[in-house]
Amino acid sequence: MTRVFSGVKPTGHLTLGNYLGAMRRWVDVDQHQADALFCVVDLHALTVDHDPGRVRRLSRQAATLLLASGLDPELCTVFVQSHVDEHARLSYLLECVATDGEMRRMIQYKEKAARERERGGSVRLSLLTYPVLMAADILAYGTDEVPVGDDQTQHGELTRDLAVRFNQRYGHTFVVPRATRPQIAARVMNLQEPTSKMGKSDDVGPGVVYLLDEPDAVRKKIMRAMTDSGQDVVYDPEARPGVSNLLEILAACEGGDPETLGGAYESYGALKKDTAEAVIELLRPVQERHKRLCADPSYVEAVLRDGAVKAREMARPRVDAAYRAIGL
Ligand code: ADP
Repeated sequence: MTRVFSGVKPTGHLTLGNYLGAMRRWVDVDQHQADALFCVVDLHALTVDHDPGRVRRLSRQAATLLLASGLDPELCTVFVQSHVDEHARLSYLLECVATDGEMRRMIQYKEKAARERERGGSVRLSLLTYPVLMAADILAYGTDEVPVGDDQTQHGELTRDLAVRFNQRYGHTFVVPRATRPQIAARVMNLQEPTSKMGKSDDVGPGVVYLLDEPDAVRKKIMRAMTDSGQDVVYDPEARPGVSNLLEILAACEGGDPETLGGAYESYGALKKDTAEAVIELLRPVQERHKRLCADPSYVEAVLRDGAVKAREMARPRVDAAYRAIGL
């Protein structure tokens, strides 16, 4: 059976981008068709200035939202990264295979490091090395497929490179995984800045729809989305990024393709109205389940405990084999 692994970072509240770009497929497809693991990658939340209590709260919230989105612990494994030591153990070995040059070429590192420096802060070494930890997250489980959004393409390639290099040097140890991405909404853009992606770490802003946003907030954000000064509704991500983003969101919610959908609208206002209602309907069942799960925290706790036990059992033999192969 295909092994699938993917995760979310608890650096902020989960967004519509996380949901459409990744989580929805985990729920609708991967947990049914594959032997799938989904992880709240909390170690990755420590790469930039963080508040310990907030990271803990957001990890719990992210795990609750994964279940609220429809991940079923009977069908897949849901756990928190730091509960399974194998991730950090393997990460160190892979640091001994990666080079500093290839880490410095990572686009996300360059962007995030530049942002930290602009703020006058220092750059944590873990910001440079976190793609290696991400490779360890994936390789520890013999993962075949990593369903992710568009922004993870480069990290996916690095993971493959490290797996191949390790296998060539020290003997076959890792499966070489491939990243898969959705055809529509692989990169949901910020509603106010449609040339940048909708990211959860962005300051709570009017351009980001969060999975727990009330219907009124969703409506307001989408109705105020930045569009250009044109009139006709055309899908053209290069020239019309704002309108195209709305069409992608609508198509992802309702089915169909963004180009055809565009032809059905005469004004931006009507498109925004329908997109807002479609997103509200998409989020409604997630929010209802989230409310029920919050009333039963011991259930979430138990799922995560069992998930960590299962994940550890799956990861340990391969990580132990990697230790032996590399000479330890
Ligand atoms: P972020 O912190 O940027 O929200 P994560 O690293 O937690 O993202 O990513 C979780 C998953 O959500 C990844 O598979 C990522 O590719 C996907 N994702 C994140 N933002 C978006 C977006 N705006 N559009 C599509 N997919 C996204």
